[in-house]
Amino acid sequence: MVQDFYKEVLDSLTEGVYFVDLDRKVTYWNKAAERLSGYAAEEIMGKSCADNYLRHVDEDGNQLCLQGCPLAATMNDGEVREASVYMHHKFGHRVPVFVRASPMRDELGNIVGAVEVFVDNSKHLVILEEMEKLRKEVLTDKLTGIGNRRYAEISSDRLDASMKESGIPFGVVFADIDHFKKVNDLWGHHVGDMVIAMVARTLTASLRPLDVACRWGGEEFVVLIPNTTPEGLAIVAERLRMLVAQSWVEHEGQRVEVTASFGGAASGKGELAAAVIARADKQLYLSKEAGRNCIYINGKKLDQVGSE
Ligand code: GH3
Ligand code: MG
Ligand code: MG
Repeated sequence: MVQDFYKEVLDSLTEGVYFVDLDRKVTYWNKAAERLSGYAAEEIMGKSCADNYLRHVDEDGNQLCLQGCPLAATMNDGEVREASVYMHHKFGHRVPVFVRASPMRDELGNIVGAVEVFVDNSKHLVILEEMEKLRKEVLTDKLTGIGNRRYAEISSDRLDASMKESGIPFGVVFADIDHFKKVNDLWGHHVGDMVIAMVARTLTASLRPLDVACRWGGEEFVVLIPNTTPEGLAIVAERLRMLVAQSWVEHEGQRVEVTASFGGAASGKGELAAAVIARADKQLYLSKEAGRNCIYINGKKLDQVGSE
């Protein structure tokens, strides 16, 4: 009676459930296990899970029945194990499942078998993939393919966290293309777009892996540089300025060239990224006033940086 009751409960679950004894022979196989695997209870009861019916493989293609059955390991050490694996379906295809193996014990606490609960993971995987795709879309600037302003904000949160936790300083460089309206007026919006994308590529290509260049808006970019000094910042900014000035877009056999003005700020002790970004933005305007295609950092034109 009691057993029937439990059997009914287990059969009503949407998760597949099966029990194995110490020889890894299946002693119970519920309805959801039948549905998910295609194997009826009669086909699988009494068979060893090592007989390779389910033939779980992991992400890397390792055959778990042969080289690392989670049930066998759980019966060995009594630890609960969870894993995302691919189960073999009776029809031959692979079903992604999330499995959880737990030990079964007798009244004395001796391990007498194990139970595996498994759920179809495919929806979960699709959703994860979709979320990752959406996340990328939301954080990427369409025109240039680099991070957008939202991504810059998220990255600046990371700078704040490292500053708080370990006092790691960082620098911010702001860049704005000079006289960009003229590019649009002279060459058209489409070429303007090409120039923005070209500048974005030029900026990102010359940065270290942890530096982040984002499109802040229009023809403005922000570069976040973790773990740097004002001197290091000046070197990066000068390289960026020079490279932008040396790049061009080819259009109908002609070169469309631009320069950009830069403003930089190095973080003060405990200073938050938003404040450093705002300071860098002000420095950029000093560069515009000084004639463009130049750099101001912490109130000084670049050739004056470090000359104090
Ligand atoms: P300044 O040297 O002072 O920065 O001069 P500027 O002409 O670059 O001045 P401003 O920043 O005011 O103008 C930027 C122009 O960029 C205005 C806008 O029409 C254009 N713009 C903004 N976003 C885009 C875009 O995505 N594509 C194109 N082609 N143009 C854009
Ligand atoms: Mg602008
Ligand atoms: Mg501009």
